[in-house]
Amino acid sequence: SKAKGRGVYTIFNPEMSESHKRKIMIANSIEAAIENNQFCLYYQPKINQQGEIDSLEALIRWFHPELGAVMPSEFILVAEQAGKITAITQWVLNQASKELAELIDIYSPKIRVAINLSVHDLRHSDLFDWIYNAFKSYGVNPENVEFEVTESAYLDNFSSSENLFKRLHNLGCTIALDDFGTGYSSLSYLTQITIDTLKIDRQFVMELDTSERCRVVTISIIDLAKRLSLKICAEGVETHSQWEYLNSLGCDTVQGYLFSKPRQLADIKAQPHCHRQA
Ligand code: C2E
Ligand code: CA
Ligand code: CA
Ligand code: CA
Repeated sequence: SKAKGRGVYTIFNPEMSESHKRKIMIANSIEAAIENNQFCLYYQPKINQQGEIDSLEALIRWFHPELGAVMPSEFILVAEQAGKITAITQWVLNQASKELAELIDIYSPKIRVAINLSVHDLRHSDLFDWIYNAFKSYGVNPENVEFEVTESAYLDNFSSSENLFKRLHNLGCTIALDDFGTGYSSLSYLTQITIDTLKIDRQFVMELDTSERCRVVTISIIDLAKRLSLKICAEGVETHSQWEYLNSLGCDTVQGYLFSKPRQLADIKAQPHCHRQA
């Protein structure tokens, strides 16, 4: 029979049907993945101007027995849509809290781990309690923890986000606004929110070598951050010239494949420092 609507088309498109099946499979495997230890945290360093590792961002990885490695760019969205991101976030909070002691051993008592929060997490009034309890269970000093949140997630429910981040800030955690520059056109909220760092999105960094406009936007973002007394971190730094340019603008920390890909704890332990590091 002929396609009558979108749904029918979906069924008869073999490629879409496979991807739809994959989504359902991913959504349905999340609980089991947590139970069977299929998730793992990788860590990617942020390097300061002295060339030291300032902090490490925890990035989740999933090794599925049938699907192989599933990347967060795929399953986080599926988990959000299926209402299962919260279980993942709780796992990440606990795992990062547990592994922090080892990062402190490897680096210094001042090392920080950065944890990503999803917009859906921010809608849970219990989020602060989960964080607090994870810290308590593993004896975490909140000063060793940063939270990364995108501007759209922060603004999605402004007053409850602001309340949460104020409380986390009072505990001693720091807050970074992730993927800055990609979400909102209005900047007025920057005067009101509790954050420590702006993270310039990779999209801008990627084109620093080739686009004068990207350079101008990056200069403006860094200038804005400095005038607001915020720290600035640039993500996705892949070339030496990008790094040099960001350094010349006074960017506080940089993160990207130039220094290190995200790596698992065992690899970090075996080789704690990156090849491009003072
Ligand atoms: P993000 O928070 O913006 O993380 C940066 C992504 O860019 C990571 O991808 C990282 O591996 C990648 N990356 C870092 N340096 C470079 C570089 O120099 N070049 C390029 N091309 N890429 C680079 P990843 O690990 O696949 O994560 C993708 C996204 O998934 C993250 O984007 C974040 O939004 C989300 N995510 C990852 N882990 C978690 C988590 O534990 N919880 C939540 N809620 N989201 C997570
Ligand atoms: Ca992030
Ligand atoms: Ca980011
Ligand atoms: Ca990004």
